[in-house]
Amino acid sequence: MEKLNWQLLAKKSLEGEIISKEEAHSILNCEDDSLLLLLDAAFSVRKKYFGKKVKLNFLMNAKSGLCPEDCSYCSQSKDSEAKINKYPFLSEKEVLAAAKNAVDSKAKRFCMVNSGRGPTDREIEEVASAIKKVKNIYPELEICVCLGLLKEHHAEQLKNAGVHAYNHNLNTSEDFYSEICSTHTFKDRVETVERVKHAGLSSCSGSLFGMGEKDEDIIELAFSLRKIGVDSIPINFLMAIPGTLLQGKNELTPQKCLKILCLFRLINPQSEIRIAGGREHHLRWLQPLGLYAANSIFIGDYLTTKGQKIEADIGMIRDLGFEIEGHENLENSLKGQNQVLEEFSVRLK
Ligand code: SF4
Repeated sequence: MEKLNWQLLAKKSLEGEIISKEEAHSILNCEDDSLLLLLDAAFSVRKKYFGKKVKLNFLMNAKSGLCPEDCSYCSQSKDSEAKINKYPFLSEKEVLAAAKNAVDSKAKRFCMVNSGRGPTDREIEEVASAIKKVKNIYPELEICVCLGLLKEHHAEQLKNAGVHAYNHNLNTSEDFYSEICSTHTFKDRVETVERVKHAGLSSCSGSLFGMGEKDEDIIELAFSLRKIGVDSIPINFLMAIPGTLLQGKNELTPQKCLKILCLFRLINPQSEIRIAGGREHHLRWLQPLGLYAANSIFIGDYLTTKGQKIEADIGMIRDLGFEIEGHENLENSLKGQNQVLEEFSVRLK
C-alpha cells in the first residue's frame, strides 16, 4: 500500500473532507514505526476542536444482568454464564451516592446504564425521577443514560427530566452485526440513535472492537457514525469475560487500538472520541498515547469489569501536560496524587 502523508490527511479532515476508504485502510495498516507520525496527525485535529482538554465520564451500572438479548460480548446477556452481580434498578439513594462519586472524581458526565432490550414505561418513570433529584443537587453534572432501544415518547420524557445525552452503541458494521447478536438488528440500533437526535438529546454512540470483525467493518462503522452525526463516540475494546460467548478472544494489540482511535478521529473530527472499556487491558503502557487522538475517557470501573485507579488517570493526564475539562486548574485539586507517585517510586526501587 502506498505510503501516505498523515499531515495531509489531517488537513483534509480539518477542512471537512471525507477521507477515502483506501486512506482509511492505510491508517489501520500503518507501519508501527510510523505510528507516532499518525498520532501527531490525529492530534492536530484533536487540538483544533478540543485543545488539550480531557473529559472525564463516570459510569454507573444502575440495573445489572437479566437481559433477554443475546449480544455475544455481553456478560449481562441471557446466554452469558459470567459470574456477575445481578440486580434490578438501584434505589434513588444509591444513584445519588454514585452521582456524588462522579462529582468528587472530577467527572463532567455521569453515565447511568440499565441492562435490557429497552425500558418499560415504569422504568422510564423511575429513571426520570432519579435524574431529577441528581440534577437538583448537581445542576452542572451532564447526565447520560443508556437504557437500550428507545421509543420516541420515552426520549422526550428523559429530556424533560434533565437528561443531556443518550447512549446507544452501534458496536460494529451493519454487515457484521448478525455475527454478534440475533435478537435485534443494526437497523434497530440506528433508529434509536435517530430518535435520540430527533428528541433534541445529545447522541452518544460508539463501538466495540476485537470481536472478530475485519478492518472493513471498523471503517464502515466509523463512516456510519459520521453519516448519522453523533456527538460522542465511545470506543470499547473487547474484554472477553469468561462465561460470555466471546470468552478467550484477545486479538487486539496496543498499536492496533491506537490506529483505530486515529481512524475515528480523522473520520469524525468534531465528535468527542472517548476511550472506553478495555482501555487498561488492551492499550496497557500505551494508554497516554491514546489521548493524542481521543479527548475523553471513562474513569473508575466499567459495567462489570474493573478500571484502574482514578488517581492514576489524573496522574496520566497531568504528566501529558493535558487538562481535565471543567477542572483546568488541576494542580490545586489533585487528591490522592501523591499516593500514586509514591506507588510508582516504590516500584522503581
Ligand atoms: S441489550 Fe445491552 S445489556 Fe442486553 S445483552 Fe445486549 S449489550 Fe447486554
